[in-house]
Amino acid sequence: MTKYIMVTGGVMSGIGKGVTTASIGKLFQFRNYDVDVIKIDPYLNVDPGTLNPVEHGEVYITEEVWEFKPVEGFKLTISEIDQDFGTYERFLGKVISPEQNITSGQVYLTVILQERRGEFLGKTIQIIPHITDEIKRRIRTVAEKKKPDILLIEVGGTVGDIEAMPYLEAIRQFRLEEGKGNTALVHVTYVPFLETVQQQKSKPTQHSVRTLQGMGLQPDVIVCRSEEPLSDDIKRKLSLYCNVPPEAVISNPDLEVVYKLPLLFEEQKLGDYLCNILSLPSRSPDLEGWRKLVSLYENATGTVRIAMPGKYTQIVDSYISINEAIRHAAAAFGVRPHIEWIDTSTFEEDPGKLEILDSFDGVLLTPGFGVRGVEGMILAAEYAIERKLPYLGICFGGQILFIAFCRVVLGMKVANSSEVDPDTPYPVVDLLPEQRNFKDKGGTMRLGGHEVHIVRGSKLWDAYKQDVVVERFRHRYHIMPDYARKAENAGLRVSAYDATGKIINAIELEEGWLVGVQFHPEFKSRPDKPSPVYKAFIEASLKRRKNM
Ligand code: GLN
Repeated sequence: MTKYIMVTGGVMSGIGKGVTTASIGKLFQFRNYDVDVIKIDPYLNVDPGTLNPVEHGEVYITEEVWEFKPVEGFKLTISEIDQDFGTYERFLGKVISPEQNITSGQVYLTVILQERRGEFLGKTIQIIPHITDEIKRRIRTVAEKKKPDILLIEVGGTVGDIEAMPYLEAIRQFRLEEGKGNTALVHVTYVPFLETVQQQKSKPTQHSVRTLQGMGLQPDVIVCRSEEPLSDDIKRKLSLYCNVPPEAVISNPDLEVVYKLPLLFEEQKLGDYLCNILSLPSRSPDLEGWRKLVSLYENATGTVRIAMPGKYTQIVDSYISINEAIRHAAAAFGVRPHIEWIDTSTFEEDPGKLEILDSFDGVLLTPGFGVRGVEGMILAAEYAIERKLPYLGICFGGQILFIAFCRVVLGMKVANSSEVDPDTPYPVVDLLPEQRNFKDKGGTMRLGGHEVHIVRGSKLWDAYKQDVVVERFRHRYHIMPDYARKAENAGLRVSAYDATGKIINAIELEEGWLVGVQFHPEFKSRPDKPSPVYKAFIEASLKRRKNM
């Protein structure tokens, strides 16, 4: 029988609820329980695929492409989900199905399409019970399919948001239906430190717990994000005002290595506490493996310096899986990454600024869409080709390596992707054949896990040491084979194809270590199992560092 842990957030967003949820899951994995996760996103988008990464953070891609069929004869494909799933997959080592990301867009669409079909004939369709029923049904569908011992349900947003209310109401009903001892509610809040009085402040947490209580929800545990660990004083205060025992107030301070959080929770006996709430026998936790992993990250000394010239430089979360993949690969060599985002518009204004790239060990060009900042990215790639800087291009970044090569080596000065310049005489990157007639923007790219057939003798093969691997994709455009043939006579090599042998999945230069991949290897990188491509990239970067 599945037990449920609901995780809500208070005070403000962006406090690492995903890491907290994943770390709680880890406590149960330490005890040999099978864990799975649902994330609820209260926005009205069907999936986050059309969201701007600067506004929303990264879009995560699952291995599986889910056919979402709210009613017979209506189908959408979903593989683009919330970035928190990256955290779950990295912490829990699980492969998650897109069905585990429930959005308001999906919930409302389902109920409204069902209404049109006449499934509720005679009834007024309302948030309660129709929307809340659909939310509970979605949760139970995951429980039935995956049959985990523990199913974590993270509710996105902050308690008090209007759009999250139906979910909190659904959770209230769900807890009642499942009965005592079968669910636990964890509320994650933020405890600010007020400089002027040199004190941690409990009031925002008190208010958000009161809002929860007003909706009929009493948290069992309060996890408090803060810069420094919670003082005993504030723990006592929060216990008193929020109606939980002092041992249920858990400290979640800033950490240099996030993978340490489960161990910190374990020290505060959160695992045993939750087992007790869920009437589960508390098995003794096996922390050995995870401790070793954390020490690998803590003991990493020295740095590898990676430049990321790109468009979205505003928030760290836009490329979280890439940052983590770099970190994983660096840890394998006992070093820590120093990653610097470089806004490519500065290169467009003054190409002299490109010299900054020389001070890095490697250059990574990110995924991307649209036009803004692209010329600067191409300039960065041209510079990397000329200087033979270790270069890893991910998806758009791989396409840009090809465009830059066509420009500087093949002399096609205005070569481009038709995505960027629809009128270019050299569309060296163009729409995939099946994408030529696309109309709807949501969920229609080439998505999910696909086979990558690697060419023997290539640098890519040296990285994977395998002929066929499965990696995750999210693209509409691709490198045009005719131009690739021309480039192959001039120092570029196609190093991977799709299963048909027709679509180019990776390219590389014969000289140096410059690799462009059409896929997103970062989504499969794990803290204890770095992505082979990223590892090879870091290795090449460290080699350059030594020779510098
Ligand atoms: N915009 C490019 C395409 O659609 C690259 C996409 C990406 O970087 N994920 O092919």
